[in-house]
Amino acid sequence: MGAATNNNTTDHNGGLHVAIIGAGITGINLALGLQARNIRYTIYERAPGFREIGAGIGFSPNAERAMGVLNADDVLAAYKRVANPNGEDYFQWLDGRHSDSLLFKLYCGKDGFQGCRRSDILEEWAKRVPASCVQFGKQVDSVADGKDNHDDGGGGVVITFTDGTTARAEAVVGCDGIRSRIRQIVLSSPDDKSAIAAQHPHYSNKFCFRALVPMSRAVKALGPYRAGTRFMYNGPDAHIITYPIGNNTVLNVLAVISDPDPWLDSKKHTTNGSKREALAAFGAWHPTVRKIVDLLPDEMEKWAIFDMAEHPAPTYVRGRVCVAGDAAHASGPHLGAGGGMGIEDALVLSALFEAVAQEASANKTVEKRKLIEAALVAYNDVRYGRTQEVVQATRTACDLFQWQEPAVGSDGEKFGREITRLFHRIWEYDVNGMVREAVDGLRGRTGTNCASGR
Ligand SMILES: Cc1cc2nc3c(=O)[nH]c(=O)nc-3n(C[C@H](O)[C@H](O)[C@H](O)COP(=O)(O)OP(=O)(O)OC[C@H]3O[C@@H](n4cnc5c(N)ncnc54)[C@H](O)[C@@H]3O)c2cc1C
Repeated sequence: MGAATNNNTTDHNGGLHVAIIGAGITGINLALGLQARNIRYTIYERAPGFREIGAGIGFSPNAERAMGVLNADDVLAAYKRVANPNGEDYFQWLDGRHSDSLLFKLYCGKDGFQGCRRSDILEEWAKRVPASCVQFGKQVDSVADGKDNHDDGGGGVVITFTDGTTARAEAVVGCDGIRSRIRQIVLSSPDDKSAIAAQHPHYSNKFCFRALVPMSRAVKALGPYRAGTRFMYNGPDAHIITYPIGNNTVLNVLAVISDPDPWLDSKKHTTNGSKREALAAFGAWHPTVRKIVDLLPDEMEKWAIFDMAEHPAPTYVRGRVCVAGDAAHASGPHLGAGGGMGIEDALVLSALFEAVAQEASANKTVEKRKLIEAALVAYNDVRYGRTQEVVQATRTACDLFQWQEPAVGSDGEKFGREITRLFHRIWEYDVNGMVREAVDGLRGRTGTNCASGR
C-alpha cells in the first residue's frame, strides 16, 4: 500500500512524540487523528506492511460521527469512498430456522451502517500515513516508563523490540489488538488477580466462518433483494449475517455457531474448518439459510471468537502507557461495534494529546510528563464505562440472535425491543460531548487551561 509525504519534518505542536503500537483500525485512526492535530507520532507494526484480511466490516453511525470529528478528510471521506450502500437503510432480522419471515427491522439512519472490504478501507487510510511515520517489522517486546522528561535527552518511555533495538517516545499507545503485548505490560501487577486474568482474552464459546461470495452466485441463490442489503438469520444456537460490499460485487457472509467445548489452543484463534461442519450446524434450518451455507467454500478457516467479557481489564492505563481498541476491550463481532470503539478511543486520545501539546508549548513551567499521565487518566475515565458496556452488550446480543435468552426466545416483538435498546445505546452517543468531557477532565486534574476539544 502507498504512503503520503513525510510529516515528521515539519514543526510540531508542543514537541510531543507519541508511539503507536500496531497499524490496525485503531492504530491508523489514532495516527490520522494526531496528524490532523499536527502531533508527531511513529507507528511500530510487527508485520512487514499494512495488512487486513479480505472479509467485510460495517461501521455504525457513532463510528461514522467519530471519524468525522477525528479527521473528516482522511478518515471519514476515505470510508465513504469504499462503503457499499445497503439496498435499504434498515437492519433486518429473519427467522432463519423455520419460516424465513421477518422478525424485526431497525432503521440505521440515512446511508447508515454500511459495509466495506477490510482491506479496501485499510488501504485507503494507510495511503494517508507518511512512510517516515511508520516502521514495519517491529514487534514490541517490552516498554519501560523512564523517570525523566523526554526533553532532558535521557527520559521518556523506552520501547524494546524483539530484534533487540529500542525506541523512545513521551507516550505509548498499545493498539496491538486482542492478544496485546502492551496490555500484558499495563496489567503486570502480580498481586492483582483481576489484572493478571485480563492479560489474555478468553474463548466466548462461539466460533465463526467468514466468506466473500461473488455477487452473481449470491443473487442466483438468494435473489437480488436478499443479496443487496443487510440481513441476519436468527435461530437456535447459531446465526448468519450477510451484507453487500465491494461496490455490490461481493456478498459478505459471517456464520456464528455456539460451541459448548473449550477452544484447545488459546494461542491460535483459527483452525481448519469445512463447509461440512457449517452444514451440520444449519442442516435443519430453513432452505434459504441452507442455500447461504452452500455458498461457502468447501474448505475454510474456522475462527474462534475470543473476547474480554469474563475478565475485563481493570484499567487501560499505566503512567504514560495505555491501550486502545481491541487491546483494551476486545469484544465479539455481534453488534458490529468493536472497530467503532477503537475509532472513538482514537478520537479521545487525539484530542487529549493535542490539549497536552498546546498546554506544554504555552506554559513552559508545567511538567509534560504529568500532563501526559493526567491525559491518560482522563482517557480512561471517559472510555472505560462506554467500552465495557459494549463488550457485555455484545454477548447479550449474540444470546438474542441465537434464541438463548429464555425471556425472549424467538419472539420478534420482544427481540425487537431488546435489540433496539442495545443498538441505540451504541449508536446514539455524543462523540463531541465525550471529547469535551475528556479535555475538561484533564483540566480538572492539572488545573490548566488545556484549550483543545474541537
Ligand atoms: C468476525 C468479526 C467481525 C467483525 N465485524 C465488525 C464490524 O462489522 N464492525 C466493527 O466495528 N467491528 C467489527 N469487528 C471488530 C473489529 O474487527 C475489531 O474491533 C478491530 O479490527 C480491532 O482493531 P485494532 O486495530 O484494535 O486491532 P487489530 O486489528 O488486531 O490490529 C492490531 C495490530 O497490532 C499489530 N501488533 C500486534 N502485536 C504487536 C506487537 N507486539 N508489536 C507491534 N505490532 C503488534 C498487529 O500486527 C496488528 O496490525 C469484527 C470482529 C470479528 C472477529
